[in-house]
Amino acid sequence: MPLDAGHTWDRGTMITADDILAELSRQFTLTPHGEARGSAPAERFLVDGGPSTVGIIASVTRPFCGDCDRVRLTADGQIRTCLFATGETDLKPLLREDATDEQIADAWAEAMVGKQAGHGIDDPTFLQPVRPMSAIGG
Ligand code: SF4
Repeated sequence: MPLDAGHTWDRGTMITADDILAELSRQFTLTPHGEARGSAPAERFLVDGGPSTVGIIASVTRPFCGDCDRVRLTADGQIRTCLFATGETDLKPLLREDATDEQIADAWAEAMVGKQAGHGIDDPTFLQPVRPMSAIGG
């Protein structure tokens, strides 16, 4: 994913979900796991009929943003509603001003209403966020 600190991610060298499946299928028979994926990032497969499984997280080539229920609070007090959000909601002022739980919850809910529909990596207007993965909590 284009979330690297050096901003050197290159679509041309990306390993796609199809690439991974093709490589694994050279040695194993993979079948869809069958259980509902929900908001889990990994698409799971049974290996040689199970019980072993393998999961593929293909954020770019098989995005799962439509089922995403994720949000993160960074160590510096920012709510990020998507890994690729270019904006953040600063909770620090509320926390430092002894805001009520309700006020904090309202601010959080307001941020969630603005959660973008997806990462937009395939959109020509896509801009890589300034802060890399390591700066927003993993
Ligand atoms: S909406 Fe954002 S955080 Fe959620 S899966 Fe898509 S890219 Fe990841």
